[in-house]
Amino acid sequence: MVQRLRAYQGKLVPFSVEFNPPRDTAAEARLWRTVRQFECMHPAFVSMTYGAGGSTRDRTVRVTGQLAQETTLLPVAHLTAVEHSVAELRSLVGAYADSGIHNILVLRGDPPGDPLGPWRKHVDGVDYAEDLVRIVRDLGDFHVGVASFPQGHHRSKDLESDTAFLAAKLRAGAEYSITQMFFDVEHYLRLRDRIAAFDPVEGAKPIIPELMPITSLRTVTRAEELCGRPLPASVLDRLRRAAGSGAEPDNAAVREVGIEIATELGQRLIDEGAPCLHFITLNFAKATGEVLTNLGYGVDTALSA
Ligand SMILES: Cc1cc2nc3c(=O)[nH]c(=O)nc-3n(C[C@H](O)[C@H](O)[C@H](O)COP(=O)(O)OP(=O)(O)OC[C@H]3O[C@@H](n4cnc5c(N)ncnc54)[C@H](O)[C@@H]3O)c2cc1C
Repeated sequence: MVQRLRAYQGKLVPFSVEFNPPRDTAAEARLWRTVRQFECMHPAFVSMTYGAGGSTRDRTVRVTGQLAQETTLLPVAHLTAVEHSVAELRSLVGAYADSGIHNILVLRGDPPGDPLGPWRKHVDGVDYAEDLVRIVRDLGDFHVGVASFPQGHHRSKDLESDTAFLAAKLRAGAEYSITQMFFDVEHYLRLRDRIAAFDPVEGAKPIIPELMPITSLRTVTRAEELCGRPLPASVLDRLRRAAGSGAEPDNAAVREVGIEIATELGQRLIDEGAPCLHFITLNFAKATGEVLTNLGYGVDTALSA
């Protein structure tokens, strides 16, 4: 994956997109329409998140495998330690390898039902993503990424320990990290500086920033969940002003401002030398396509929502 990002050096900064596992057959059909739309835009890679719940997990592994086998895209499978023994984790990695997936984003995950609740390790599982990075690397020729947190992980005591834990995951064999979503580029730049000062070797590995275009006031809540904290007041003010003071929010204006904000973030990140822009899509292509067009990528934005 990192090699693929290097191939873009001197060209337009690459972009990538994140999908979520479909919950049912209808959602799966919609996901495939979105996948085909993104296929025409040539992302550097696409990632598929990994959630809790047996049947969704089975569907996740199957659909991610199909991305490898039935599209031209490079899939990165997310893998979490939640409610899995080490034996199950090894077997999942084996299933991914069997379907041609060699890129894995290794995460600890959060307790199901209550992401902020106490972490419970599976009795035969692992406690930290760092341990899972080692397990996956020991299983064969896998390219591993990990999560990084521009404002620190919500369970980290302080930014110093948060930086040390990120460095440990990278030293364990991760080749890059993808950040938690953010709306203030300064946080991304400070993370980059922190890790470079803490460990210049690990700090030189790509830190891929994650963005999400806000398309409605409803997506603000989702964005805050994904950021792990409230959106900056300046961002909320712009969205609220766009919504207006009428009985119903002006959804079109909110969407327009949301795309504008994501475009500004993307441009600043490009200017600051980000190695790739990773978009959370919620399995829709239109908003990301519009942001990419604003940033000068030649993509077809005549997409259905
Ligand atoms: C880009 C991205 C993608 C994600 N995708 C998913 C997904 O698909 N599915 C999902 O369920 N969740 C996903 N998450 C959420 C993620 O699982 C949670 O944020 C989780 O709480 C932390 O995961 P981690 O891999 O960073 O854990 P870890 O790196 O293990 O860290 C967990 C906590 O433990 C601390 N810590 C780490 N190592 C040690 C140590 N040795 N000793 C003591 N403390 C330590 C860390 O500071 C942190 O507070 C994603 C997050 C990001 C940023």
